[in-house]
Amino acid sequence: MQQVFESQQATALAWRRSTVQERIERIKRLRDGMLEQRDALYEAFMQDFHKPRMEVDGTEIIPTLDEAKHTISHLRKWMKPTRVSPTQLTLGNTGSIQYQPRGRCLIIAPWNYPLYLMFGPLISALAAGNPVILKPSELAPRVSAVMARIIAKVFRPEEVALFEGALQTSQELLAKPFDHIFFTGSPAVGKIVMAAAARHLASVTLELGGKSPTIVDETADLTKAAQTIMWGKFLNSGQTCVAPDHLYVHESVKDRFVAECKAVLAERYGSTAEQQRSSQDFTHVINQRHTQRVSGLLADAVQRGARVLAGGEVDQAQCYIAPTLIDQVPAQASIMGEEIFGPVLPIMGFTSIDQVIAEINSQPKPLALYVWSRDEPTIDKVLTNTSSGGVCVNHCMVHVAHGNLPFGGVNNSGIGNAHGIFGFKAFSHERGVLRSTWLNTIKMFFPPYTEGRQKV
Ligand code: NAD
Repeated sequence: MQQVFESQQATALAWRRSTVQERIERIKRLRDGMLEQRDALYEAFMQDFHKPRMEVDGTEIIPTLDEAKHTISHLRKWMKPTRVSPTQLTLGNTGSIQYQPRGRCLIIAPWNYPLYLMFGPLISALAAGNPVILKPSELAPRVSAVMARIIAKVFRPEEVALFEGALQTSQELLAKPFDHIFFTGSPAVGKIVMAAAARHLASVTLELGGKSPTIVDETADLTKAAQTIMWGKFLNSGQTCVAPDHLYVHESVKDRFVAECKAVLAERYGSTAEQQRSSQDFTHVINQRHTQRVSGLLADAVQRGARVLAGGEVDQAQCYIAPTLIDQVPAQASIMGEEIFGPVLPIMGFTSIDQVIAEINSQPKPLALYVWSRDEPTIDKVLTNTSSGGVCVNHCMVHVAHGNLPFGGVNNSGIGNAHGIFGFKAFSHERGVLRSTWLNTIKMFFPPYTEGRQKV
């Protein structure tokens, strides 16, 4: 590891001069290497998650291809220095922003979208001209093994290297003086990463998680909301950083909305517990520990008086938890205190949007927030009075796929942005370059400070 890290320094210096064509060629190599292993990836995702092919395509391979395509199409423009106009004190000079590679970068990824959350930032890092060390999560080992094969085939270690491993590998890497660390994972580990980065004053991008609230008011298109929210929540079995964590539904439409949601679940996964249990279209929880954690949250809520509206079945051995809807969840239930990150959706009724906004603002700032409404003043009120990494109006999660939008959190849900030009900038140092021209206004400040002396 130390040898590879040292070898990447020479690459970092050489790659400062890398051209747009060279960077694009590296991204293409990665893209083609990934496509060559497509079947191995499907197989690995099935073994690690019981994840259907369509979901592997839709949430891992296609978003990675899209990031590559978008980056390849725009990189020439992104790399060009941006000219800026002079301000009053700098009249007569020209200014521009030069985008320099940060240097040696470390990317640490989580297990829930192990491919996209590793190769997506890698594309941005390569676009910005950096060598990279990758550390995937140990919790999706088959996918991580295929990624290791891809990287070893496509890059030399001094360009891009991947180290598999758990805590110890992460700690060894974090002890090294990287120039930039791009971490995706939980807020708790995000704090550890930021503390480690502080020892070397490495810059960081932290893509973290949190409890993303969803509001459905009495004017919303309930059918569209139910169809989309049931997709957003139960895709990847709820193990999505931007999944709707819990819902606030206006009391006057709550029963109708719940009925729509139940109908959608029956149509997609089967109407009996047995049909749902054997659905080939439903991903399972990543491992026994997380199955126990999520089913523990559900059991605790039920014990405190929550009602199961749909689902509720758990098969610990198969890491299976049915798509589950609950309501009447007391505020003290643990499920309302931590990111659920599994297929259980608490639904709360509300009558006052101000109350919902106050509740959201009493919690750490979430990664995403979703509002379903046809009432512009309500939408506006929610957008103005809340904070979150990103937001969708009458949609959920799709903002992640928009290559021209920044994707990131705020405070507890993250620092900095990914995707498209924002990812390119995350891995670039924005260097201010001033060039002096004919007019030297700074002469005004040359001593001696004799009043009335003409200097310019
Ligand atoms: P995690 O924080 O447990 O682990 C993430 C990575 O950090 C893994 O590679 C892991 O090996 C490593 N790690 C774990 N403990 C460590 C420690 N003490 N020191 C150093 N490294 C350590 O997260 P996870 O369980 O893999 O992923 C789930 C979390 O990630 C959720 O909170 C989710 O919301 C968040 N997430 C965020 C995004 C985003 O884009 N914002 C995307 C996916 C997941």
